[in-house]
Amino acid sequence: MSQQEWVDKDYYRDLGVSSSASAEEIKKAYRKIAREDHPDKKPGDAAAEARFKTASEAYSVVGDKEQRKEYDEFKRLIASGGFGMSGAGTRRSSGMGGMGGFGGSGAGFGSSFGGAEYDMSDIFGGGGLGDVFGGMFGGAGAGAGASAGRGATHSTVRDRGSDVETEITLEFREATKGVTIPIRLTSPAPCATCHGSGAKEGTSPQTCGQCHGSGMVSENRGSFGFSRPCEACAGQGTIIKEPCPDCHGEGRQTRPRTITVRVPAGVVDGQKVRLAGQGAAGQRGKPAGDLLVTVHVKKDKVFTRSGDDLKLTVPVSFSELVLGGAVTVPTLDSRVRVRIPQGTADGTTLRVRGRGVNKRNGASGDLLVTVKVEVPTDLDEGAMSALRKYSEEEKRSGFDPRENWEGK
Ligand SMILES: [Zn+2]
Ligand SMILES: [Zn+2]
Repeated sequence: MSQQEWVDKDYYRDLGVSSSASAEEIKKAYRKIAREDHPDKKPGDAAAEARFKTASEAYSVVGDKEQRKEYDEFKRLIASGGFGMSGAGTRRSSGMGGMGGFGGSGAGFGSSFGGAEYDMSDIFGGGGLGDVFGGMFGGAGAGAGASAGRGATHSTVRDRGSDVETEITLEFREATKGVTIPIRLTSPAPCATCHGSGAKEGTSPQTCGQCHGSGMVSENRGSFGFSRPCEACAGQGTIIKEPCPDCHGEGRQTRPRTITVRVPAGVVDGQKVRLAGQGAAGQRGKPAGDLLVTVHVKKDKVFTRSGDDLKLTVPVSFSELVLGGAVTVPTLDSRVRVRIPQGTADGTTLRVRGRGVNKRNGASGDLLVTVKVEVPTDLDEGAMSALRKYSEEEKRSGFDPRENWEGK
């Protein structure tokens, strides 16, 4: 991004508010955009995604009291012509992915613009990402918001480890009842030798004397502060005199590891779940990224799902429907007897309350049992002759299956 583009930015316009808007108005405006244009809400809609990114970037600045003050001051300086454009580049949150290292763009603009982080759970009403699948199943908002929120906004240079994606396949009944399973991954994990510090055993990283641990050095120009990554420590904030021989001072190493994941009841095929802090380890003990798990669910021989309800089709005989009776059908963990009322029509669905999928609130969906007549093809002579006799009796009793057919 060039300086001119930076100058042209108008974060208030991006959020559709005036520059005198209150913090509450700004928050509201951002939430609205985040809700409507979130990429998880409108997959494949590039315009919506662009609006979301623009708004996220804008909100990361003017949504923060201190940064907003700096930004307003910057804009005033520009307007008054008092801001001399120097050779310094601008560092800012790109909105996606992060900078990937230092060196490209030179000095940073603003002490903290690029490093803005905020909590998406605030925007979506609190998903509680600390819980393994917390918020992921509670409604579209929480999970979706958390997932893109991280990727889209956490783009500081000295930041956390990257997100890691993986897939698991569950049996239908595992997904329906919930299951705890191990996931095996090969990704950057904290170095086992130095426990992430990057320093050789018996030593520890020293706070950088140049930046006093912040990783950034600043210079003041008038009332506006510039910062740039500290050269002495490459923005890390610490200096390692004797690197750990196993990770060469990185504090992490790629190795296989197994984590145990509790999948709550009711996950559906194709659902993505996020495990906060289970992704790649950060450099030198910085926070880990998240693990994104795409869940595939196998089909079952008997059951299908419709939300929290389980469905199955049970074969019955014609006489069972006419006379009424009962059939025994499987449930997820046992069997249940279902009464067929006298004169039940073929294709009728009978509902067994509370025998479906367990919901998060402790309640359960229902089991929906659809009856389907199985026509016999190899009855013996006794049954055939009884059926012929029945057929005559049926006519005699006045039953005509096509009585009202074709609107007669
Ligand atoms: Zn190490
Ligand atoms: Zn430093």
